[in-house]
Amino acid sequence: MTQKKSTSPVRALGLCSGGLDSMLAGLVLKNQGIDVTWISFETPFFSADKAKKASEHCNIPLVTQDITTTYMQMMSAPKAGFGKNMNPCMDCHALMFEKAGHIMNEQGFDFLFSGEVVGQRPKSQTKNALQYVEKNSFFKGAILRPLSALCLPETRMEKSGLVDRTRLLGISGRSRKDQMALANKLGITEYPAPAGGCLLTDKQFSIRLRDLLFIQKNQEVRHLHLLKYGRHFRLTDDCKLVIGRSRYDNQQMLAWYDPAVDARLDHTYLPGPVTLLTGRFDKAQIQTAAEMTAAYTKAGTGEITEIRVTSKDRQTQVTVTTPAVSDFQSLKI
Ligand code: SF4
Repeated sequence: MTQKKSTSPVRALGLCSGGLDSMLAGLVLKNQGIDVTWISFETPFFSADKAKKASEHCNIPLVTQDITTTYMQMMSAPKAGFGKNMNPCMDCHALMFEKAGHIMNEQGFDFLFSGEVVGQRPKSQTKNALQYVEKNSFFKGAILRPLSALCLPETRMEKSGLVDRTRLLGISGRSRKDQMALANKLGITEYPAPAGGCLLTDKQFSIRLRDLLFIQKNQEVRHLHLLKYGRHFRLTDDCKLVIGRSRYDNQQMLAWYDPAVDARLDHTYLPGPVTLLTGRFDKAQIQTAAEMTAAYTKAGTGEITEIRVTSKDRQTQVTVTTPAVSDFQSLKI
């Protein structure tokens, strides 16, 4: 790597989650006169919403990219395995750097960076983990961690003078004190509270995801989104019932409802949740779904009542004896 002439600004592309560490890493480089751009990747498990706010707050341009298809391929067999739940953090980071690396090459950035801090997360941010990420991103030698640079071997970017190592930091460990002091110094006044990770680190979400990936034969991206809302019940290996828990759930479920393939169930006259039957189903599953839908309305246990089923633009009514909610809890995922 050769030193750039001063007329051509050094350009760096950084991963941005929108958290404080991402913001600090971007500003530390920007304050050296480096032309910084952020990239934030999206899947059903994490969005670029926080990164968009960070971009506005720090005045650093942001590019977003949906990587769901590649991400799901990686999820089928992450080389470093999963964390405590369905979070393949090391391969997730490696994939993000790989994607960013291609953009770096296509768009003439000089190097990549992130806000990773050595020792901040017990498994995914150890020195070995950072090395694993770099190696498996296929962009070894092109990744800088400005917040922990002084704890890590000097990179080509520093050796060649693209980056002034004396203006990088040596933060390590789990304490946030250094980052908060730096935020103060850099004038960052708004940043999200440190979060434990994306939805893949959530125990309940991971149980649902495992069920979808390893039991259900037919999966669509919208099924991944639906995992976030409502109560989920597995009726057969190929068929699932989702029952909303709140007005918000109902709205979100309808956003991912596909009337061409899903069935929607409602009580014919009582208020109740949005209920969606997804996958492959026949009369038996529709009957079960109708009974379960009735259980979440004001119809009393044992009461005979009517559920409307909308499937492929056709509406039918199914008569059911309302069960107790406890009768089908064994189907809950
Ligand atoms: S918490 Fe989620 S987004 Fe973050 S590295 Fe792990 S899997 Fe990737």
